[in-house]
Amino acid sequence: MSTSGIVVAAGSGTRFGVPKQFENVAGARLVDRAVEAAALACDEVVVVLPAGVAWDGRHVAAAVPGGSTRSASVRAGLDVVAAAATVVVVHDAARPLAPPSLFECVIAAVRSGADAAVPGLPIPDTVKRVDGDDVVETVARDALVTAQTPQAFRADALRAAHDRGAEATDDAALVEAAGGRVVVVPGDPRNLKITTPADLLVAAALLVAAPEGQR
Ligand code: C5P
Repeated sequence: MSTSGIVVAAGSGTRFGVPKQFENVAGARLVDRAVEAAALACDEVVVVLPAGVAWDGRHVAAAVPGGSTRSASVRAGLDVVAAAATVVVVHDAARPLAPPSLFECVIAAVRSGADAAVPGLPIPDTVKRVDGDDVVETVARDALVTAQTPQAFRADALRAAHDRGAEATDDAALVEAAGGRVVVVPGDPRNLKITTPADLLVAAALLVAAPEGQR
């Protein structure tokens, strides 16, 4: 049984201003940190890059150009993962602080029988549904989590979910829509997603405060 990791790093950084995955934080690029963590937990790693960008990081099984959406980029990665892979883990290059143990946790949940496993975090804030400026409803938050990557999948479930070219903000949503069993494992509050330049400062502070060996 083998595990392939796909690190999607083909975004254009519309909200950030530049492709954030190539920004440096505490001495390493976001994409390198994501690939390194994936490599510690997976048998091979495929990295998906913006068209025309050459891979200049650590050894990977393949580096391929992505698509115009995140889902299209995941499909580009799926096309080149080892045919023998039984588990595929998808991770955003925008999350440089995911520990290898989180990869291992989602992989273990899939090996135990789930079609997919995602790290989830409880929501500390009160959640409102809105319509423009109007609050429509206060949503009970106890049954809600925010979903992180890495997300692990039975390889055939992920391939089937992506077969029809569907779009979603994460891959678990496609497996859910296809009727698959998706489980949640405890997420890591440090595993933040870099969205704005201010997030880089937070990531740098977390890395500097981390014990040596976890930076
Ligand atoms: O844009 P967002 O922050 O949601 O992107 C999440 C991850 O998906 C990032 O690592 C980004 O590089 C990647 N992505 C991609 N191809 C796209 C859009 C986003 O690989 N077309």
